[in-house]
Parts: sequence; structure tokens; C-alpha cells
Amino acid sequence: MALLEIKNLHASLEDEDKEILKGIDLTIQPGEVHAIMGPNGSGKSTLSYVLAGRDGYEVTEGSVTFGGKDLLELEADERANEGLFLAFQYPVEIPGVPGMTFLREALNSKRKYHEQEELDAMQFLKLVREKAKSLEMGDDMLKRAVNVGFSGGEKKRNEILQMAVLEPMLCVLDETDSGLDIDALKIVADGVNALRDTGRSMLVITHYQRLLNYIQPDHVHVMAYGKIQKSGGKELALELEEKGYADFTGKAA
Ligand code: ADP
Ligand code: MG
Ligand code: MG
Repeated sequence: MALLEIKNLHASLEDEDKEILKGIDLTIQPGEVHAIMGPNGSGKSTLSYVLAGRDGYEVTEGSVTFGGKDLLELEADERANEGLFLAFQYPVEIPGVPGMTFLREALNSKRKYHEQEELDAMQFLKLVREKAKSLEMGDDMLKRAVNVGFSGGEKKRNEILQMAVLEPMLCVLDETDSGLDIDALKIVADGVNALRDTGRSMLVITHYQRLLNYIQPDHVHVMAYGKIQKSGGKELALELEEKGYADFTGKAA
């Protein structure tokens, strides 16, 4: 059974009645890594928000099943508890509030949902330490009481750690930040690769091909004008790096 099956998904902005997604079809099997690339404004981030269940979007047509369930029927927190993880969903940086508090709450919410016992502070810290170690991350980051002043690389590291702790079935990474330096890119790529698993799928959304130099996707899709215009293997990413998106920006869908 496919982990995620999107069929003819149309979605609009609630306020403006403006259609952004114009018939997306995408199937992700367990363990697959898919990349979505495409020019700015093509609807990539909108797709991730609609999947995560963010407010402000209205699905007008189509269906999405996740692990066999109707995803669109679930609230955002239920989607997370079912194993959908959107990087950037949890605040990494809130002045005065330790980031780990959010992560523990998210994890315990998920455990409760699956009728598992919640972890106390000590158990949680132990788990986080283990995960950090398995990702070859030092625990200096964990010692910081307040999660402010993180560099770009440290924020990425934090997000990867969140992913490792929450153990999602599907990780959606929307790599919007074009300002990432090569170290931060590598942190993301190493983390994604370390968390790759036969039972875990990834949807990596990126405007830039270079991230895919470090993450080898099983499938690459080009999105433009709210639709997937072309799909292929990892060679498609290389082709795009060479030719750019010109083939996809000339025609209105
Ligand atoms: P991408 O991530 O591919 O750059 P987006 O999903 O961010 O594309 O945006 C797709 C289109 O929807 C763009 O034209 C953008 O201006 C518009 N859009 C998305 N979200 C909003 C919003 N909240 N308010 C107004 N326009 C939006
Ligand atoms: Mg496939
Ligand atoms: Mg975007």
C-alpha cells in the first residue's frame, strides 16, 4: 500500500478564492525519497501546508490518503500524530521558551494518541541524547536553556533532531531558505540520509538542485503553475540544473 496518495488535488486560498494547486497527482511508497523542484510561486510550499493541514487553505477537489486514512478529514495535530512531519512546523526559536519543551509536548501528544505512556523529563532527555548521538551531534545544543540565537546550521540540526525524535512516517522538508550555506545543506542532507529507512518516506521540496547533490532521491518531480509538469529519476534534477526551468515557465497551465 502506498504511504501517501494524492489524487487530483485542487486547493485555493480561503480568503482570496485563488486556486493555487490545480490538480496534483503524487504517490509515495514506504521508504521512497521524492524531490519536488520548481520555480518560485509554483505552489510547492502550498502543497506542504495543505498536506500538514495549515489554516487558510481550502481543498476544492481531489483526495489525499495517508497510511490508508483520509488525510483531509484529520486535524493538523492528528496528521502529525499519524506520522506526518513538516519541518518548520514546530517553532525552533521562541524567545524565553526552551525549544525542547515543544518537542517533548509534540512527542507526548503522539504517544498519547497511540496509547503509549508519556515520557517524563528524564526519559525524554535520555531519548534526545540517544538520538543526537546516533546523528553524531554533540549535546551542547541540548544544554542551551533558551533556543535563541541559533545559526542557520544549528537550526537545521535542531529540525533534524526533531525528526529523529518524532520518528515520522513521512517527512516533508520545504527547503525554502536559499541562504543556506554549504555546511547547513550538508547537515540537512546527512540527517535525511541517516533517517532514511525502508519504512520512512521523505518529500524534499527545493528550489535548488544542489541539495540533491547530497540527497539521492528515488523520484524527482517538477512543479509549475500548481501542477506536476514532469516526473523522472534523479537525472531529472541534473537536467534541471543545466537547463533551468525555462521549459516549464513559458506555458500557462
Ligand atoms: P512556491 O513554494 O513554489 O514558491 P507558494 O506555494 O509559496 O509557491 O506560492 C504559490 C502561489 O500562491 C504564489 O503565487 C503565491 O503568491 C501564492 N500564495 C501562497 N500563499 C499565499 C498567501 N497566504 N497569500 C497570498 N498568496 C499566497
Ligand atoms: Mg515509486
Ligand atoms: Mg516555497
